[in-house]
Parts: sequence; C-alpha cells; structure tokens
Amino acid sequence: HKYVYDFSEGNKELKELLGGKGANLAEMTNLGLPVPPGFTITTEACQAYLATGREPDGLAGQIEAHLESLERAMGKRLGDPQDPLLVSVRSGAKFSMPGMMETVLNVGLNDQSVVGLSAQAGGNDRFAWDSYRRLIQMFGKTVCEVPGEEFEHALDEAKHAKGTHNDLDLDADDLRGLVDAYKKIFLKHTGREFPQQPREQLDLAIRAVFESWNAERAVLYRRQERIPADLGTAVNVVTMVFGNLGPDSGTGVAFTRDPASGAQGIYGDYLANAQGEDVVAGIRNTVPLQELEQLDKASYDELLGIMARLEEHYKDLCDIEFTIERGKLWMLQTRVGKRTAAAAFVIAGQLVDEGLIDLDEALHRVNGAQLAQLMFPRFQLDHEFQPVAKGIGASPGAASGTVVFTSARAVELAAEGESVILVRRETNPDDLNGMIAAKGILTSRGGKTSHAAVVARGMGKTCVSGADEIEVNVPAKRFTVAGQTVNEGDVVSIDGTTGKVYLGEVPVMPSEVVQYFEGSLDPEHIDNALVRAVHRIMTHADGKRRLAVRTNADTGADAARARRFGAEGIGLCRTEHMFLGDRRELVERLILARAPGEREAALAALLPLQRADFEEIFREMDGLPVTVRLIDPPLHEFLPPLEQLAVNVAVAQERGEDVAKEEALLAAVRRMHEENPMLGLRGVRLGLVIPGLFAMQVRAIAEAAVSCARGGGVAKPEIMVPLVGAVQELETVRAEAEKIIAEVVGDSGVEVLIGTMIEVPRAALTAGQIAEAAEFFSFGTNDLTQMGWGFSRDDVEGAFFWRYLELGIFGISPFESIDRDGVGRLVRIAAEEGRAARPGLKLGICGEHGGDPDSVHFFHEVGLDYVSCSPFRVPVARLEAGRAVV
Ligand code: ADP
Ligand code: MG
Ligand code: MG
Repeated sequence: HKYVYDFSEGNKELKELLGGKGANLAEMTNLGLPVPPGFTITTEACQAYLATGREPDGLAGQIEAHLESLERAMGKRLGDPQDPLLVSVRSGAKFSMPGMMETVLNVGLNDQSVVGLSAQAGGNDRFAWDSYRRLIQMFGKTVCEVPGEEFEHALDEAKHAKGTHNDLDLDADDLRGLVDAYKKIFLKHTGREFPQQPREQLDLAIRAVFESWNAERAVLYRRQERIPADLGTAVNVVTMVFGNLGPDSGTGVAFTRDPASGAQGIYGDYLANAQGEDVVAGIRNTVPLQELEQLDKASYDELLGIMARLEEHYKDLCDIEFTIERGKLWMLQTRVGKRTAAAAFVIAGQLVDEGLIDLDEALHRVNGAQLAQLMFPRFQLDHEFQPVAKGIGASPGAASGTVVFTSARAVELAAEGESVILVRRETNPDDLNGMIAAKGILTSRGGKTSHAAVVARGMGKTCVSGADEIEVNVPAKRFTVAGQTVNEGDVVSIDGTTGKVYLGEVPVMPSEVVQYFEGSLDPEHIDNALVRAVHRIMTHADGKRRLAVRTNADTGADAARARRFGAEGIGLCRTEHMFLGDRRELVERLILARAPGEREAALAALLPLQRADFEEIFREMDGLPVTVRLIDPPLHEFLPPLEQLAVNVAVAQERGEDVAKEEALLAAVRRMHEENPMLGLRGVRLGLVIPGLFAMQVRAIAEAAVSCARGGGVAKPEIMVPLVGAVQELETVRAEAEKIIAEVVGDSGVEVLIGTMIEVPRAALTAGQIAEAAEFFSFGTNDLTQMGWGFSRDDVEGAFFWRYLELGIFGISPFESIDRDGVGRLVRIAAEEGRAARPGLKLGICGEHGGDPDSVHFFHEVGLDYVSCSPFRVPVARLEAGRAVV
C-alpha cells in the first residue's frame, strides 16, 4: 500500500489523501514553482496508526526510500555532521483545523550537525544556534508537551540579560547558552535528554502529528464543525530553507488580493532575517510587502509573477507563505484564502469580469451569512470608545439611543422622533410596542433564543441580550455597569454583532447593501464595486432558484419593506399582534364575557379593527399571496400578570374603590393559569372552544379581501389554522369558515384558500389524512422543533443549551438551523404523504429556519414551494435558494 507521495506525485484534488497543505504543495511543485523538495505521508497512514496504535507495515520503509531520494536530490544527508539536510515536519488535514499540532522546523539538528550547519553557512554561528534553539523549543512543545511558556521565559531572560527586547541582538554565544537552558527544560519535563538521532527526531515528530488528530481540542473542534472524526491528518516533510540567514533572507505572507475589501493589489507582510512563525508571532514588526521591492527587487518581481500565476490557476484569491534564502525565493504554502464578506462578493464579481469563472460559480463563492453581515449598519469605532459590558450578539446591527426602561416610555420618546434603546432585565410580550418603537434592545438576561433575541431578530432590530455585568433597576429607571450609573435619558450604543455595549453615542455607518435593496442606490449608476457585485449575483440567484421566498409580516410597513427586498408574498401574518395595545381591553371583555351577548359584542368591536389591519396588508401585497394565521397564543397571555393584578386589587380595596372588574379579571387569570401554556389551550383548540373567535377572524379576512377587490386590487388570502394535530380539528374549523367565506365573498371573484400549519409531530405523521382537508401546509418549524425535541424554547437555552453545544451534541441550536435528521424527517414525511394524498398541495415553511442558509437548502431538497422569513432575511433566502440549485 502506498503511504508516501513525493510532491511531484500529488495534485490539488487529493486533499482527502494528502491534506490541504500537501495537495497544494504538490500542485505548486507540478506548476514548476520553486517549492523545497519533500514528501507527504498520507491520511491513510494516519488512520492506520490511530486504529492500531502503531505505524502500518511498510510505512517505515517508504519513508526511508523517500528520504533517501530527497537526500540524493539535495546532495546532503539528514543531520549529517558536516553538511546536514534539515526538514520541517508539518501537519495538514483535509480541512484546516485550529487545535491541531503545529509545525516542527529544523529537524536534523543536534550537537554535531549544528557545527556543520554553521560551517556550510560560511561560519554563521549565530544562524546555526538560533536554528537549533528553535528546534528544541518546537519539538519540546509540540512533540513532548513541554509547557511553551518555559522556553519563552528562558528566551526573555536571555534578552533581559543582554538588555534588549529584540531577538536579533542575541549573538551566537547567547544562543548557545539558550540551547543549554532549553535542554535542561526538556530534560526536566520529559525525563530524557533531547534526542540526538536525526531519524529518531523525524519519527517522533511524525508520530506526534498522527496523534495530534485525537488531541482534545481537535476532537471538540471537529464535533462542532461536523468534520468526520475518521479523516486523519497528513504529514508533510519539507526540506528546510532559511529565512534567518541574515539581512538578505527573510520570510513573509502574501494575498493575491486584499482579503478585507477584495481590491486588486499587493497585500502582505515581510520580515527580514526571520524564520517561519516569527511573522505571525509578532515578535518583531513586519514591513508591508511592497517594501520588499527595495530590499530584493528580483525576488519581489518573481513573487508577483507567481501570485498572478496562482490566481489564474486556482481562479480565486490565494494566500501564500514564502521564504527568501539569500536572495532565492521559495514557496512554502498556498491555499484559497479566507476573506471578509464584502471581499467575497467583490472578488466573485471581479473574477467573472476577468473571465476566470462564470456566474454559477460566483454564486457558489458567496453565501447568505456573508450577505446578512453586509446588511447591518456598523459602528465607526475610534479608540475613545471602550466597551463597558459584553453580552450576546443576539441580533446584529449597531444602534445608539437614549436609554429607556419601559415600553411606554419607548413609545413616547420615539413618537417625538428620538432614537431609544429599551433596556430590560428580559422582555416579554408586553414589551412588544416598546421593542417596535426602539432602535435597539439591551437585556441583562437570556440567550440567543430569549424572547428579546427572537423578536428582535424577527424585526431585524439590533439586540444585545444577557449582558450580565449590567444591573438593571427598572423602578429606579437606571442601570449600573462597571461602577457607573446610567439613567433614563443617557445615551448608550449597542453592537448586536459583537454583543458589546458602549456609553455615549458611537457614530454609525449605514449599509450600502441595504440602500441598494431598498432601491435608493442604483447599481448601474454608482461606482461601488460591492453593490454592483451584490446586484449581479442576486439577479443570477433569482433567475436560478426554484423556491419562492415570502416573508413573515404582521403590518403593512413590514410587508412593504419585505416587498422591496424581493418577497413574493406573506407566508406568515400573525394575528395576535393585532390584539395588543388599545385592543387589549376588548380582548379582556371577550375573556370575561359571561353571557353570549357580551362575547358577541366584544367580537363585533374587534371585527372592523382586524379588517382594517388586513386591508392594509392586502394593499401592500397587492397581487401576491398572503397567509394569515388565526390566533395562536393562549388568551391569558393578553391579561396582566397575576402578581400585578393582585397588588392592584389590594391597593384599590385599601382606598375603598370599586374593584368588581379587577376582581373578575383576577379570578379569570387564576382560572386560566396553565402549567405548560405551550401545550395548553392555544391554536386551533381556542377556535374550537371559544365560540365566534375564529369566525370573526375569517370574516375580517374575507371582508378585507373583498373590499380590496372592489377597490381594483387583487387580494389572495390563505387562511392558516395553527396547531392542528388531527384532521378532525381542521375539518370542524373548515366547515364553519367555508360558510362564512361563501357568504362574504359572493361573486366578488375573491378566492380564499384554507390550510394548516404542520407544527405538531402528530400532524406530520398523519399528513396524508390532514391533506384531505387542507389546500396548503406551512411547516411551523419553531413549534415542530420544540415538540419534536421536547424542548421548551424559552427555557432551554439559558439552562443547558450551552452544555449541549460544548459537548457537541449539536453543533448549532436546532432553533437556528433545522435538525435535518429528526425534525427534518418529520417535514419530509409530511411533504411526501401530503402530496401523495393531494397532488398540487402547496408547501411552505414559516418558522425562523426559513431565513437560515443551511435550512433553505434542506427545504429546497425536500421540494417545498416556498420559504418564508423575516423581511430582513428575504435577500439571504433568495441568495441561498439560488445557491441550492447551482
Ligand atoms: P501552519 O499551518 O501553522 O501555517 P506550517 O506548516 O505552514 O504551519 O509552518 C509554520 C511556519 O513555518 C510557516 O511560516 C512556514 O512557512 C514555515 N515553514 C514550514 N516549513 C518550512 C520549511 N521547510 N522551510 C522554511 N520554513 C518553513
Ligand atoms: Mg502555514
Ligand atoms: Mg407555532
């Protein structure tokens, strides 16, 4: 079995076998670029070692053979006392993995060959001993687990003794002394002398790379990133070239384009007289790569030529590691480089212009997470701004405003045109108006799936949650943080991307990409590479995608914005928001009604209000489908909390006021209390229990649609019944609704569909039956996830999700990205069995997953007709739906 490949035998497609680093070293070798000769030990050898605990048969012989041919080619032998060949031993898996073993340089040096190395370098003792001390340091740390700080400490002491901070001031004698100190450290921690046999050094280093695959950090990282545990790592053995030979040598990194902006040009850092890691370690200041032109014009020109060549070959931005040894350039690594979101779009656009890739490929090269990043405003941070607290970046963006502590005050100040930040310990549905009015939301409790976080994300509003250094005192209208007090009326700034909180107003830059989506930046007429690239790629995605993209919107304003962002309808219009504010009073009357007449009166009062809400939404979505969900939450959510009511009643009684109404309310709150409201009287169950409630809503929808039609518009209502678990529930609601619709619609030409959410596992499992009574399904993946896993969404994140993530039980919260294997399976079953029972059944999804990139791909695969997501996520979903096709 072949376990070892010479660089000339591999290529860039062999990442699985040779690892990323090895495959690209081979590719560069075959392009004729100056790569120091070497060979790669395959991931298969690593797998075999890990399975059996010893090197597989034949490996030692193959290494021997490749080493010999390397020695022949170089005219030197590994660790030869007179003229030693030295090598580096470098790990490199298929996916680059932080947490893996680092590299060992200068393998082959010992007490004899260090003298030979010096002689070969023209008596450069300093260089030779510097290389030797680096070997003991790296070998000790990465192969034998000697604590790295001990070496660093010894190095600092040597510099201190010399009265310098610069490692270049250490001369050969200092470094010889340091080697002695390092050897003592090595002996102390390993119980043995530093190995002097070159081949033993090599074998131990290779074995250590194999074993690093199962280091704790690496295992954890793989679990979270869902990288298979059995890939193994390759090992690259590379002839050493020396950047630390003197001022005419050096080492550097380079990018073929600016990884921050995507701009074409020369980007990188160079450090003269240095080896390997010195550039990133920051021990001395690097110079910009351009300055290499002055230092060594020939190498600089050659490097630029190679960079152009690599870009053309890889058809993408590449990053590069190189070393110059006495005026000779060597390439040590390349790969397709990481980049910012903006650079990803700009580069993809440029490469299309340059004819290197087509638009399908450009669409591959960007993603929805990057687009989402580009849509948030950003702070312009100068040094004067230091964060005072850090919470969870719950909903990205940058917001500054006046601090308020209550929803009412938020609404008040916002009405006066002020930007406000609503600060709460945590939020609840009562805070909704305040959240709508606020520019941003800051809470001291709760995680990424807290009420504040979820609602804010839905609104595309900046939110920092769980900033627990902040002590919120709502009654006193202030919070304290870092020893300072912030009162109502003071200004704070919150960054929903980083979770950082600042005192005072940090200037904000609006997102150009949002201006483009809003229609206020015309990509054809402005000189903005990013906007033009986004426009071009979005247009292509729209042309390619099969999934339609709708939005979740409860108001005309949201609907209008989503439409500008490209929404092709509303997939979820929640009606409970229409029961808040002034209307709460009517809902109370409905709940407290003793006689049918009282209930009917309350419903009759609600009807025109609801109708007006729907008219506005139908107008904004003229010609496009609008799915309206009948009321879903338990009605007691609309009543004041028990404690507050009890106090009010007591206080009023004290004063001798008439408390009959409050007492009735209190009794109702007690009566309606539920242990598990999520599993209680809600959704379709409300419609079946409270006479007239659904009927009123259906009537309001139908009347609004008819009035729209009369005004010359086209309304396409789709009435959606929540929380159905059995077809009988839906049939009952449907029978009543059909009667009302027929009566209202008459000959207006309006067509109203009736369908259901699939959000209870039983509904998914009996979808074939339910489809008989439903013209469409919309997967409510939030509830389906809650009930599928048995997780109470509001409780789990703070309580134990962190632990699940830490243990790798899941890599991402199943509320953020659909759990394909479990909840996704329910979706698949329901889609298949629903369509089998009713061909042409319309299928959509309206949970938060509708705006999650990975989930969009899943819904495409399952064959849904559309995804629906919050307005702000609509462009992301359009992009990902396109990417799912190409
Ligand atoms: P990482 O994956 O952490 O970048 P590398 O294997 O690329 O680790 O090596 C770390 C540093 O050592 C890099 O700067 C690299 O360029 C340098 N290096 C690796 N092999 C050699 C070599 N044979 N000669 C000179 N420098 C080397
Ligand atoms: Mg590297
Ligand atoms: Mg639901």
